[in-house]
Amino acid sequence: MMKVVTLSSSSKGNSVLIMGEQTNLLIDAGIKMSSLIEKLQILNCDPNSIKAILSTHEHSDHIKSVGSMMRKFGCMLYVHADGHDAVLKKIGHVDERKVVTFYDQPFCVGEFEIKCFHLPHDSVSCVGFVVKCGSSKFAYATDLGYASEETVENLKNCKLVILESNHDDKMLINNPNYSDFLKRRIIGRRGHLSNVASAKVICTLAQNNVKQVVLAHLSLENNTPSLCYQTVCEYLEAMGIIPGTNIKIDVAPAQAIGTVFVIK
Ligand SMILES: [Zn+2]
Ligand SMILES: [Zn+2]
Repeated sequence: MMKVVTLSSSSKGNSVLIMGEQTNLLIDAGIKMSSLIEKLQILNCDPNSIKAILSTHEHSDHIKSVGSMMRKFGCMLYVHADGHDAVLKKIGHVDERKVVTFYDQPFCVGEFEIKCFHLPHDSVSCVGFVVKCGSSKFAYATDLGYASEETVENLKNCKLVILESNHDDKMLINNPNYSDFLKRRIIGRRGHLSNVASAKVICTLAQNNVKQVVLAHLSLENNTPSLCYQTVCEYLEAMGIIPGTNIKIDVAPAQAIGTVFVIK
């Protein structure tokens, strides 16, 4: 059994809490530590019980309080070899013995078995995770320019998938506050997944035993929760998949704590 909850999910800050029977983990710690601690306390999770932080990549919306959490609570950091230096450079001084470098092979933290997969993104390295505990399996994939076959394969058959649905293409293209350079960066193959691109992936997942998806990492400027939800649902319906019946769709709140999913 594990419980999974987003603590924050947007271009401004990302963190997911995974609570097992013995072990608690975070995927990323991209918000201020004071806010992270407050959220953990609301969920009755003692920050001292966070055994490790799994790092996806070095962007500040994912690592803002990684260093301070390690120094204050002694959490371990798990980081892929490809992104190790870039992440370590940004988190301040930490005890080297608390840093575990992983490669592409699965590894264990407490009762969890964790496998990473690479995501195309404009960072030195970016990974998503499949977290397994007994027969429960959940996957996390944000910050990807496109969903490769490998990514989709990793998401299939998971009981819960947290998937990026970053922007609405029209809102982004018409946004007067974004330069053409930035727009191209976001839309590009190493940028972020749009609502429609996310919907296409979810359609495949619905046909491959995934029953619950959480739309995550929404842009605060180029998306809204209702537009994102509506776009995905309309796409699924057009493909003969009934949202709520064949697959449940949730939207992760940008700053508030999300729904606590219990995965058995
Ligand atoms: Zn991000
Ligand atoms: Zn990023």
